[in-house]
Amino acid sequence: MRSNGELVDHLVERGVLRTPRIIRAFRDVDRRDFVVPETERHTYSDTSLKHLAGQTIPQPSTVAIMLEMLQPGGRCLDVGTGSGYTAALLAHLCKEVHTIERIPKLHEFARRTLADYENVELHLGDGREGVPGREFDRILVTAGGESVPDALKGQLKEGGVLVMPVEGSLVKGTRDNGDFSIVKKRWGFAFVPLRSGVG
Ligand code: SAH
Repeated sequence: MRSNGELVDHLVERGVLRTPRIIRAFRDVDRRDFVVPETERHTYSDTSLKHLAGQTIPQPSTVAIMLEMLQPGGRCLDVGTGSGYTAALLAHLCKEVHTIERIPKLHEFARRTLADYENVELHLGDGREGVPGREFDRILVTAGGESVPDALKGQLKEGGVLVMPVEGSLVKGTRDNGDFSIVKKRWGFAFVPLRSGVG
């Protein structure tokens, strides 16, 4: 695929992108703005790409599946800023986006890729702690863990939705009457691990 438009058409044809406003966000955010020069020739392939500090930019179809599960809106938390690609997509779909990265070099990279987004606030820290004192309508985690961190469950608003890779599957959780529960699982996804601390 030679352009962002062709990549989005492919995701629509495959049926992974379905919701008109999410399709529009994928058209508005050009993946080219997030890749590093070494992988530029694969910008519009539906594959994950090597990023800085041994991390990866996730595969577009996986991002599409996650955003379709999440149905973003309101105030959103993005754990694992990485290149800034998911934060930019969320910025087109949500009122306010908070994004957290633990590796300073990536946090600085994303400051540039997200510079034009006034509704995105970047945080450097351990995303498993979320943003203390805040509550979110939607939480997207793009690094895989063994379980959903308690702090993130606690920062999800009543009726809110969280999507995160847990042990090779994508889980969708919600908070109902104060209790967090998993409502959906999809198998077969690989992600970089969610690690502790900053650095
Ligand atoms: N959303 C990113 C995906 C990057 S891959 C994008 O669109 O490019 C996952 C990212 O999560 C990596 O950058 C990794 O450094 C980060 N990460 C891993 N554990 C983390 C943690 N505990 N807190 C914050 N970020 C974390």
